[in-house]
Amino acid sequence: MSPKSEKSHLVSYTLPKADMHTHISLALSPEQLLKKIQLNRTTLDLDFLLHKPRRYYSNLWSFHAETYEKLRGSVEAYELAIVTQTYLERIAKEGAIYAEISNSFRDPAVFEMQMDAVVEGIKAAKENTGIEARIVVTSLRDYGSSKAEKAAKHLVGYKNPYVTGFGLVGYERADSLQEYKTALNIAWHEAGLGIAPHVAEQDIVNAIDFFKCYP
Ligand SMILES: [Zn+2]
Repeated sequence: MSPKSEKSHLVSYTLPKADMHTHISLALSPEQLLKKIQLNRTTLDLDFLLHKPRRYYSNLWSFHAETYEKLRGSVEAYELAIVTQTYLERIAKEGAIYAEISNSFRDPAVFEMQMDAVVEGIKAAKENTGIEARIVVTSLRDYGSSKAEKAAKHLVGYKNPYVTGFGLVGYERADSLQEYKTALNIAWHEAGLGIAPHVAEQDIVNAIDFFKCYP
């Protein structure tokens, strides 16, 4: 192997790419996570950052349970803006020209503030690198279908050109995907959004149910 090929990237940085699945509040750089640990703004410890085996989980659910609760619950609007910008700029350097990033609808009072922060991050990254990005608003399955319907209804009256999709995340065995038929219909027919729920990351039945509740 020549010295040149040893140094070449595993993936072509010049090939245009699209990143279709990023939970933006979890997309912290190592530096951003380190800062958060130092400020006691997460219960994840330094070991998580320094020792690779510590970041491996036996299944997706145990990974979610730890990182979501320890990281995502404590995200502030300003952090969301910075994480969005730095994440998009990083993948743009690796050749990404488009990204679809998701953020959960939790508390209606902070939702629009969070969206404004994500949009500012998108605009800054676009200005610096040219990358385009859009947002998928998600609802957590753990909170049930009525919460998802509330989120979808909120999006009917919420006009944000960067929001182009509605999704469902979280524990796929919490309930049946078919219970979300109403929420998906509201998002598709009334809010005019694309549909991007997680299906069969944890449970194959969800993939079959998806065909029964797709608008
Ligand atoms: Zn996901």
